[in-house]
Amino acid sequence: MGRVTKISGPVVEVAIESGEKPFLFEVVHVGNLKLMGEVVSIRKNKAIVQVYEKTEGLKIGEKAAFTGSMLSVTLAPGILGTILDGLGRVLSRSGERIERGMGVKFFPEGEFNFVPEVTVGRKVKKGQSIGFIDFKGFRYRILSPVGGTVTEVKRGKVSAEEPVARVEGNDVFIFEERAVRIPSRFGKRIEVNEPLFTGQRIIDFLFPVAKGGAASIPGGFGTGKTVLQQTIAKWCNADVIVYIGCGERGNEMTEILKEFPHLKDPYTGKPLMSRTVLIANTSDMPVSARESSIYLGITIAEYFKDMGYSVAVMADSTSRWAEAMREISGRMGELPIEEGFPASLSSKIASIYERAGAFETVDGKRGSVTIIGAVSPPGGDFSEPVTRHTKRFTGTFWALDRELASARFYPAINPFNSYSRYAEFVKDWWNQFGNYKNLRNWMIETLQEGEKLEKLAKLLGRESLPEEQKLKYEEFNLIREAFLRQNAFDPVDCYSSPQKQIYMAEILKTLSHWWRKVFEEKKLPVDKIVSHPIVSEVLRLKTEVGENEIEKLEELKEKIAQVYKNFS
Ligand code: ADP
Ligand code: MG
Repeated sequence: MGRVTKISGPVVEVAIESGEKPFLFEVVHVGNLKLMGEVVSIRKNKAIVQVYEKTEGLKIGEKAAFTGSMLSVTLAPGILGTILDGLGRVLSRSGERIERGMGVKFFPEGEFNFVPEVTVGRKVKKGQSIGFIDFKGFRYRILSPVGGTVTEVKRGKVSAEEPVARVEGNDVFIFEERAVRIPSRFGKRIEVNEPLFTGQRIIDFLFPVAKGGAASIPGGFGTGKTVLQQTIAKWCNADVIVYIGCGERGNEMTEILKEFPHLKDPYTGKPLMSRTVLIANTSDMPVSARESSIYLGITIAEYFKDMGYSVAVMADSTSRWAEAMREISGRMGELPIEEGFPASLSSKIASIYERAGAFETVDGKRGSVTIIGAVSPPGGDFSEPVTRHTKRFTGTFWALDRELASARFYPAINPFNSYSRYAEFVKDWWNQFGNYKNLRNWMIETLQEGEKLEKLAKLLGRESLPEEQKLKYEEFNLIREAFLRQNAFDPVDCYSSPQKQIYMAEILKTLSHWWRKVFEEKKLPVDKIVSHPIVSEVLRLKTEVGENEIEKLEELKEKIAQVYKNFS
């Protein structure tokens, strides 16, 4: 027990009574309302507590109870499809606020059908699956918390109240509790080898993120971070999505809450919510819970990766979380290092992205946690601390560009400031669909040459470019318009399969090949070559050729050859 001696917004100082030994990150129930907080620093006989709920009305002298446990989440069948607040409490309806100190943590209710996969006498490892529960179309595996011999195991109807097995003297339940700040200890890290396929061409083709990789989306206000995060959440090929709305405007979150339950998973046809957990911590909720919301989301992700699933975590926006950290550390009197952020900013950002990875589970399956964080630098200035440190820990950087967004060129990813370190790791996966490496290299080279020409064209006008350069500039524009530009709200263009992406790239390369051939052999003006109606057909195919008619694209290649063979 302790007593509140000082209150500064969400930061509360508690005098520790003699005999009590609180530890770092221990959960504390503060005051008469039992507000949820965490010990963030211990100074002699004082504990500094970060309170996750509004502290209005809390008074000096009120009690604070140390709970002996760390902030944790209950993980169990049924967690998919839920909407949680930053502390893991269930929001019953869209974005509804929970009374302070009152929330109920997620807990599995009712009966489940348990199918054991081990028999009595079997030896299992810590983290090994002992059976599964199929619930709402999803197979949840029950992992043994300890290694040893199975001495009891149930089959059929079970509930959370009683154990489903006994291993080496320990009860195994269908749920587990995990402390959110501690990374999963199950499984071992392996190399990433597959993309998190998103159906977004500029991402998949040029700047892929691997399953198990970390990506950041930096971009100023209104450049399309949220739309991109949601588009990826809708279309990516992860088994599970954890979407964290962190400190962003409440109405954005409400939109997701309204939209997601009606969307269908393009891979299974089931409701998208059945593979999703939403964590809502909007800007009107206490800032301190932004931190817990991110750790909470990653912990949920790890639960599923330990079963052998691929999980994508979206955090929108990590800047709001960093700002909360800045506010808390300021109130704690910590010395700010850069732009008011504490020295721990870098290590905190690292502690999040480090939890991304591809893993081999104890059962020998492949699981992964991919983390995609939006960053909102003030004024779109990428040299500010949060963007800079995030860049160090993420292998993919999708730089959203104010100019592109104003021109309504979406996704507004600037190909010249963006990068991916995963392209090399995912090429074997891509090879099953076509010659990815070759096509990608061609695209990147063409874009790089085009960048220089665009500067010239802007300065002097396109007409002043010599014919040879004009041709290159046209190739560059072709790639941008026909391939990189993609409308998230168009029913056909919103998603391109790997096969369609390869076909499209091949068609562009074919077209550019013929342009060059005609230009060199017949010495015709570039404007004449590039204005044949077949070009508009190529520009339209992203919206006009659906996934069920991609064979048409093969014909188009033929048609292009016919047009330019006899071009005059
Ligand atoms: P941010 O989260 O960076 O502040 P948003 O994601 O909310 O920005 O995007 C702002 C607006 O830009 C959206 O409401 C939408 O009109 C437009 N937009 C963004 N991305 C796309 C896209 N991929 N396709 C079409 N429109 C987009
Ligand atoms: Mg946004």
